[in-house]
Amino acid sequence: MDDGRPVVGVDLGGTKVLAGVVGSDGHVLARCKQKTARLKDRPEALLDLIAEAVHEALASAGLGLDQVAAVGVGVPGTLDAERARVAIAPNLGWVDLPVRDDLSRRLDGARVCLENDVRSAALAEHRLGAGAGRQSMIALFIGTGIGGGLVADGRLVHGSHGGAGELGHMPIRAGRGRCSCGQKGHLEALAARPALVRYIARRVARGESSVVARRHRGDLTRLTSGDIEAAVRAGDKLATRAARRSARYVGLAVGGLVNLLDPELVVLGGGVVEALGQAYVEWAAEAARPHILAASRREVPIQAARLGDDAGLLGAALATRE
Ligand SMILES: [Zn+2]
Repeated sequence: MDDGRPVVGVDLGGTKVLAGVVGSDGHVLARCKQKTARLKDRPEALLDLIAEAVHEALASAGLGLDQVAAVGVGVPGTLDAERARVAIAPNLGWVDLPVRDDLSRRLDGARVCLENDVRSAALAEHRLGAGAGRQSMIALFIGTGIGGGLVADGRLVHGSHGGAGELGHMPIRAGRGRCSCGQKGHLEALAARPALVRYIARRVARGESSVVARRHRGDLTRLTSGDIEAAVRAGDKLATRAARRSARYVGLAVGGLVNLLDPELVVLGGGVVEALGQAYVEWAAEAARPHILAASRREVPIQAARLGDDAGLLGAALATRE
């Protein structure tokens, strides 16, 4: 539904909630950010905080709840088929929570729509970012975890149970690397930031030298994507190898996905890609292209995402309009 009124988009994460009032042209009119880190396993308090962030964003925009069409929330977890309940959101400690109705009650009965957070970001990239004007697109976001979104015939693909787009859990290398889901060999276990960090830390422990060895007083589990990028920029061999390895695995996945969906465009985003930039995108593309079967498809554009931090809230807002 789109009646031209603004909507509120909410990007909900394990550390912060970002609410933004979004006009019908995709422009963010006002924002409010709150920290959520202490509210894990306290769903009632977190829902209160989300409602507060929505109210504050609306107040900064000079609007009331009756002047917006709906509130869309991007949730870091899986939803039920009706998108009324959050089935599981591990980072929030949520299990089978009726978020749509519980939040609507806190917002004077306003219409609330739920979408997965990564699918929201993919939708935003498709409508307002790198994918604008394309009919089909694959988006992969590489950060603490790996998620994605598929757009076909101009629409986000949800799948028969709402689970489409869990691209981080694609088996890439049998038996190697323990994934956050408990399985082994998944893309996320090989290419997400924790995998890069583990790769570097293990080799430093074995005596390999690297400019990151003394970062965070030697506690390499705390390495950020920015630390790794700075090391790559300084010509550090180990950090570069780790970054290229991550990009190579992402590229293998991209090659397979292009064969599956034949999209017009592939978009790579997330903290790792934002930090390592165009070099990472090119390493991934280089690994992907030989696996793309039809020579005519091998030059499919593989590009960096464009929206950065606002992608989540913009996508949540867009999802409510559709
Ligand atoms: Zn997995």
